Amino acid sequence: MTRIIDGKAIAAAVGNRVREDVAALAAAGLTPVLAVVVATDDPGATWYVRAIGAAARRLGIGCHVHDLGPAASAAAITGLLAELSSDGRVHGIICQTPLPPAVPPGLAAQQIAPIKDVDGANPQSLGMLAAGMPGAFPTATAAAVAEILDHEGAVLEGRRAVVVGRSTVVGKPTALLLLARNATVTICHSRTEDLAGVCREADSLVAAAGRPKLIGAAHVRPGALVIDVGISSVGTTGGVAGDVDTGTVTGIAAAVTPVPGGVGPVTTMQLMRHTADAARDLAG
Ligand code: NAD
Repeated sequence: MTRIIDGKAIAAAVGNRVREDVAALAAAGLTPVLAVVVATDDPGATWYVRAIGAAARRLGIGCHVHDLGPAASAAAITGLLAELSSDGRVHGIICQTPLPPAVPPGLAAQQIAPIKDVDGANPQSLGMLAAGMPGAFPTATAAAVAEILDHEGAVLEGRRAVVVGRSTVVGKPTALLLLARNATVTICHSRTEDLAGVCREADSLVAAAGRPKLIGAAHVRPGALVIDVGISSVGTTGGVAGDVDTGTVTGIAAAVTPVPGGVGPVTTMQLMRHTADAARDLAG
């Protein structure tokens, strides 16, 4: 039997811990504040910003949305991020993507101070993570994958983990977190030969390619834990699909995350956790 992992339940458990942390900080006179910088009218981004605001409200975290509009200049975005980085009332900062095409990739994220970079967007945060240095946050999505594997009791130490996708948002930071848990990690990408054969070595398989149904029965070792990060729009009615063809891996995988309802809700809660942690760290 293949278990369908309940991402919403894991998110609720993370949320309960964050709520307790936030209450303790509030008792000491500190309310964590997350600043969300938006320079897009992308519907997915709009939906996510609303979800972040709702989660923050439920947990007692302040959430300030700074909407600069989709035509914002690079100077306006970088200027605001630099200002928020030095604003003592702000503890966490995220800059929603996509950014306007005129903004050079990576430029905006570099303005976010690593101690407030709660979605691991600054390349410096990724470098600190790679170097095993404290004080940097992984992306919320990578943290969510690790949280789900921990929650499921995945044995990572000494075992094989395969991550499909090498982006700086998901693939690379996820691989680093699994490496930090002493897994033997392989990263696959669009040029990988024999993807199915490499994936079949995995005790824990993380799919983050953004290719619906890329991962099927031929990719999954019997008893593997499969984490599906992919979210692709399908059809014309707002449906989404993951990277895993869940029907074909059922009966082979030990457990698999659904899409939606798997990694997504845990990601939002990890962002809240990072914001509370940043507030505590900044307060010393
Ligand atoms: P990306 O496009 O930046 O990277 C995709 C990666 O997959 C690349 O490294 C590419 O080499 C690899 N890839 C593409 N086709 C492949 C193939 N056929 N075989 C092997 N590898 C292949 O995307 P991303 O930002 O890393 O996001 C990946 C997916 O995760 C998307 O569907 C995205 O929507 C989703 N996502 C989910 C969350 C969440 O919280 N649930 C957060 C971020 C991204």
